[in-house]
Amino acid sequence: MTSYLKNTPDRDGFFGDYGGAELPPPLVPHFKEIREAYDRISRSAEFIRDLRYVRKHFQGRPTPISYLKNISDSLGGAQIYAKREDLNHTGAHKLNHCMAEALLAKHMGKTKLMAETGAGQHGVALATAAAYFGMECEIHMGEIDIEKEAPNVTRMKLLGATVVPVGFGGRSLKEAVDSAFQSYVPQADKALFAIGSVVGPHPFPMMVRDFQHVVGVEAREQFLDMVGVLPDIVTACVGGGSNAMGLFSGFIDDEGVALYGVEPLGTSSKLGEHAATITYGVDGDIHGFRTLVLQDEAGEPAPVHTIASGLDYPGVGPEHAYLKKTGRVNYTAADDKEALAAFFALSRQEGIIPALESAHAVAFAMREAPKHPGKAILLNLSGRGDKDIDFVVENFGVGEA
Ligand SMILES: *Cc1c(COP(=O)(O)O)cnc(C)c1O
Repeated sequence: MTSYLKNTPDRDGFFGDYGGAELPPPLVPHFKEIREAYDRISRSAEFIRDLRYVRKHFQGRPTPISYLKNISDSLGGAQIYAKREDLNHTGAHKLNHCMAEALLAKHMGKTKLMAETGAGQHGVALATAAAYFGMECEIHMGEIDIEKEAPNVTRMKLLGATVVPVGFGGRSLKEAVDSAFQSYVPQADKALFAIGSVVGPHPFPMMVRDFQHVVGVEAREQFLDMVGVLPDIVTACVGGGSNAMGLFSGFIDDEGVALYGVEPLGTSSKLGEHAATITYGVDGDIHGFRTLVLQDEAGEPAPVHTIASGLDYPGVGPEHAYLKKTGRVNYTAADDKEALAAFFALSRQEGIIPALESAHAVAFAMREAPKHPGKAILLNLSGRGDKDIDFVVENFGVGEA
């Protein structure tokens, strides 16, 4: 591990002022158990060997880097490259941490995985991991999301998971979190609660980052091999921030490499019409940790909007809030229109249909490229766009020629 990663976060899970674990009393012993188990098990030769095996023989790692020659040529500036996390089994980077969380649970002697899910992507990845390791899986999902994301609900059921519909309050992600934690407390002896990004109470922001670190390690080595030098700019979309931390962590000690997180600007910079938490948020608490938060006037997490449902969160991983403050990472935003244009461009010009989330990173790379002739940009293509095709075509057609 690099020197930055070794020293961050501190023992209590703080990245500077951000992070920590503000837990209801019944959860305190269970998070302590997870923290201690992670410290011990993740260093054991057996765990490391098992995780390597899973990555290679089930997930399809290492994923390649692709040179986006046609887009680079048409923009006439920097050369653009993509780390192909869309080629992971199940089509996104989420399996990197879900398989590792499941393996940790297995080594802890747990028999069950539990989580909430919004659009269903985390639920599908976790249900996949549960099936592989022969574990039970319980996913809580708001009734509104269940209606909107029917194919993911079907996938989870096919994979053997129990989907628990959440019918109170706004019947969406926030209520699903509450419902999942309520159900977890009495089952915590046999179940692991598996958080789906670098968010939540300590140790999850650190643990999920460490499990995603493989993306950055591979990418750095592959890029050097392919191009002969390090990239000038490394970029990724930021929802909770796990795919970004994975890629960034491979380059964080390389001072000459500029890092850019791209947040979703939705339809405008008005509160409620975007999910650009780092760009517009304020210091606050959400779901048991301290970070930047988009808040309404009452101090409650604000409603958010973006075309990419996987970026739809009014908080952000505490490490991103910290890296914004230290200045090591730059944060910017791309709106729905730019992401859509990038979605069509990558499909038509490169033969890769990206997830709408990943399209935000593509949009930023395409915006920056003309300004940096002679330089190289590496972006994280966090997932493939199959899940978004119906929505895009129904609303926007197949793009112009
Ligand atoms: C869930 C998801 C994201 C957002 O999650 P992060 O934790 O910010 O990486 C990005 N891309 C894809 C394809 C996703 O499924």
